[in-house]
Amino acid sequence: MDDKFYLTTPLYYVNAAPHIGHSYTNIAADCLARFMRLKGKEVYFLTGTDEHGQKIFRVAQEEGLSPREFVDKIAPRFVNLWGRLSISYNDFIRTTEERHKKTVQYVLQILYEKGDIYLAEYQGWYCTPCETFWTATQLTSAICPDCKRPLEELREKNYFFRLEKYRSWLIRFIENHVDFIKPLTRRNEILKFLESPLTDLCISRPKTRLEWGIPIPFNADYVTYVWFDALVNYISAVGFGQDEGKFKKFWPADVHIVGKDILRQHTIYWPIILHALGIEPPKTVFAHGWWMMGEGKMSKSRGNIVDPEEVVSNYGADAYRYFLLREIPFGLDGNFSESALINRINSDLANDLGNLYFRTFGMLEKYFSGKIPEVSSPHKVFKEKLARLPQELVEAMENLNFQEMLISIWELVKLTNKFIEDSHPWELAKAKKNTELASFMYNLMEILRIVTISIFPFMPNSAQKFWQQQGQEKKLEEVTFSELSQWGLSSPGTKIEKSEPLFPRIA
Ligand SMILES: [Zn+2]
Repeated sequence: MDDKFYLTTPLYYVNAAPHIGHSYTNIAADCLARFMRLKGKEVYFLTGTDEHGQKIFRVAQEEGLSPREFVDKIAPRFVNLWGRLSISYNDFIRTTEERHKKTVQYVLQILYEKGDIYLAEYQGWYCTPCETFWTATQLTSAICPDCKRPLEELREKNYFFRLEKYRSWLIRFIENHVDFIKPLTRRNEILKFLESPLTDLCISRPKTRLEWGIPIPFNADYVTYVWFDALVNYISAVGFGQDEGKFKKFWPADVHIVGKDILRQHTIYWPIILHALGIEPPKTVFAHGWWMMGEGKMSKSRGNIVDPEEVVSNYGADAYRYFLLREIPFGLDGNFSESALINRINSDLANDLGNLYFRTFGMLEKYFSGKIPEVSSPHKVFKEKLARLPQELVEAMENLNFQEMLISIWELVKLTNKFIEDSHPWELAKAKKNTELASFMYNLMEILRIVTISIFPFMPNSAQKFWQQQGQEKKLEEVTFSELSQWGLSSPGTKIEKSEPLFPRIA
């Protein structure tokens, strides 16, 4: 059994400020990272920014800044947002860092010497905004198939990386590794795409056209194409060619989480680059869907972008995290609306979870002066659910099914709310049935403990507050997954801290 867990997000292109899509990927990755830490793994969680290329060069120019000044201005906005969203990454890599540049050049040199990179004259059509070459066979007119802008005809010498040479290897690899591409629909999509020959990847740009890139080590007249540069971050961050101990420890990555729009780069270019280098591909590439708003994908040009900063200011980071992970299954597309967010906050957070805490604490205060009573065994209504909760969480997480995990946790929350209603605690109190009342309250405190641990990966800030209010001595970060299956860990006599509801209803 592997004790490490290496997970990554894509590197975000810093041509604009972070939006909901970036925050969605990082929230999902953070939840997975926290869950794996709970499971006792040594987690290496990598995120960062992609800072080279034509688009950045151009935006910088428009703002009257050098590319370096521009990226130094935007990158901190990502760092700040991750702070506000409680993203617990271990490493933040920028492609303009020395450690990364060195690795990219090292990789290029190896592939060049191996004969997998060659120089060729290229005639094609170029879309400057997309930085994409198109060949005649891919076009019906001189219009970019992606952005519909006019293309320029180009004839120039460039370096190419052999993709087609490795196509049959890649097909076999995907067929033999069921978990390599998830979800399954994406795997089928890629296998279908691989039925046709691959065009070798143009990996250079002449300096006469673009200077903002990593110099090609064997020809000073060229810089590296931004996509080739960016992919290499997954191995440069863990020390490939520089710190072999670290690299051996963490590679292969356990999961690269990506948006479905960059699946080909991650499941075709990337495994082929690695294989050509003699390195094992990552274990899993998981592609998630897009958030739509009204009609179509959110984009700057459509002006329908949700600003995560604003949502967090209005509703809090935990509610935003909860909504994104609960609303749709990870992998499918979703529709973002403020009313859907408010509904989730009111029904799931304020009503179900908030009430459970608030009522439990209120009763403990009223009947036992806020002190946890003697240990008593779990009531029969909980036994079956408590027995299957840990397994349900683990199985859902294996498929990055955050929604299913939350549904499983909420099943316990709802069961407990019903238990409170069915138990008529006020009648027990009236009849002075103290033993029964104590057993009832101890059950509730134990369920709260278990729920708090379970929601910690999803809503770290709220979980911390709940944990503290329960008077738990152990740090929540030090709690292990096995404590979910144990009963009786809340210490009798502990005084709880009463508080205001954490999730007030939104009118
Ligand atoms: Zn285009």
